[in-house]
Amino acid sequence: MPPLMLSKRLSSVQGVRLAGASSTWDINIHYPPDCPGGIIASCTPHHNATPGNDPASTPLALPALTHPHIHLDKAFVHSAREYAHLLPSTGSFQEALSVTTVAKQRFTRPDLLNRGEWLVAESVSWGVTAMRAFVEVDHTVKLICLDAAMDLKSQWNDVCEIQIVCFAQDPIFSTQHGEENRDFLETALEQYPQIDVIGTTPYVESTIEAAKRNIDWAIDRALQLDKHLDFHLDYNLDSSKEALLWHVLHSLRQRGWTGSSTAKRVMLGHCTRLTLLADEKWREVSRIIHDNDLPVSFVGLPTSDLYMASPPPDPNGAPDRPRGTLRVPEMIRKHDLDAVIGVNNVGNAFTPWGPPDPLFLACLGVGVYQAGTQADAELLYECVSTRARAAIGLSPSHSNIAVKEGERPDFLVFHNRDVTGCGIAARPRSSVAEIVWDPPAQLNRDVLFNGRLKRSGLPTLRNDFSYVFSTE
Ligand SMILES: [Zn+2]
Repeated sequence: MPPLMLSKRLSSVQGVRLAGASSTWDINIHYPPDCPGGIIASCTPHHNATPGNDPASTPLALPALTHPHIHLDKAFVHSAREYAHLLPSTGSFQEALSVTTVAKQRFTRPDLLNRGEWLVAESVSWGVTAMRAFVEVDHTVKLICLDAAMDLKSQWNDVCEIQIVCFAQDPIFSTQHGEENRDFLETALEQYPQIDVIGTTPYVESTIEAAKRNIDWAIDRALQLDKHLDFHLDYNLDSSKEALLWHVLHSLRQRGWTGSSTAKRVMLGHCTRLTLLADEKWREVSRIIHDNDLPVSFVGLPTSDLYMASPPPDPNGAPDRPRGTLRVPEMIRKHDLDAVIGVNNVGNAFTPWGPPDPLFLACLGVGVYQAGTQADAELLYECVSTRARAAIGLSPSHSNIAVKEGERPDFLVFHNRDVTGCGIAARPRSSVAEIVWDPPAQLNRDVLFNGRLKRSGLPTLRNDFSYVFSTE
């Protein structure tokens, strides 16, 4: 069922604060004939501020959120009754793979639509207006997940831009089903031109040679069909295993995939193995990417990585269990790489914890990356917002977190309404850092997509703030 809560077009949002600006502003939106989704025509000083109102409690407008990597078809398996017998008993990665395969045998179209709708609706309520959604295609599910995903993509088109990944979670060049799985991918790519991205999982192949064939095949097919490419790569913390990153970079160069030859991009997800690289190796990665103009981004998936990625057991039985996830802020600042953060899985054996709220990830990042400054918080916000949108190829380049003239009217208005139910004056979150350090509840997030409003459900208490609707 499509969402039912969108307003008419807004012509302005009056009386908000913007990142990096101390005073109060009006955001004015126009809808030129060639741009029905609207454009921010100007941000002008707000003149009707009520004397005596605390500026710290003025709503704050920031760019909308993006999922750069989320699994649509296996979301919330743990919340569906039919899979109650498949809850984890050990929590291991092998168990996650095997119980998910069993669950996939039972997937039905109504069940896929139901769980998919939970994911999209909850994401939108947190402020997500764009997502890259992974949908599996193989001999187990055939095309049923893709078929349901296409319906969700069109039904939710008014509130969220859903980019579909035709995704091989299973081997395509090894095991008894490899060839059959690859045939299903080819059929899917032929039948559904709406597929935006080809995604594979080289690390599930049974040999390193098969993993490299997987990579080469995916690069060739993405280039031939003009699709984005997305690998689940190097998902281990085992220094004895070769990092396949080097092969991906080599193969992209060999095939001439550059920023000027195509507008399509390449994303590398998980890549926990790379946390074991020395600085000098990271410099080499950065040099190869920049010297060859490779449009490569990395996505760290910390809720999954912290849960699943651990080194092989110590032969001497040492109890040490370090975890690993890409050090995203360091990759951006120190190595000049493009890197973002994504939710990956929610409510299933791969990641049983965490909500589909990108700001929850940004908040987790403060702890994981020891990123406690205001500038860190702003960077983490970008990583789940403007940087994530650019990394999946929906914007030509990322902007900072100031809502400004010339951009799309996709943004969040963070309010400071009391949600304790105790009738007190709400604790204000007056900076981007306070939003990231302790993300506001859904009821304090109003979402604008293409200039239309999805209200959170509570009224705005400040009389110097208003949404003004277009009369066109
Ligand atoms: Zn994933």
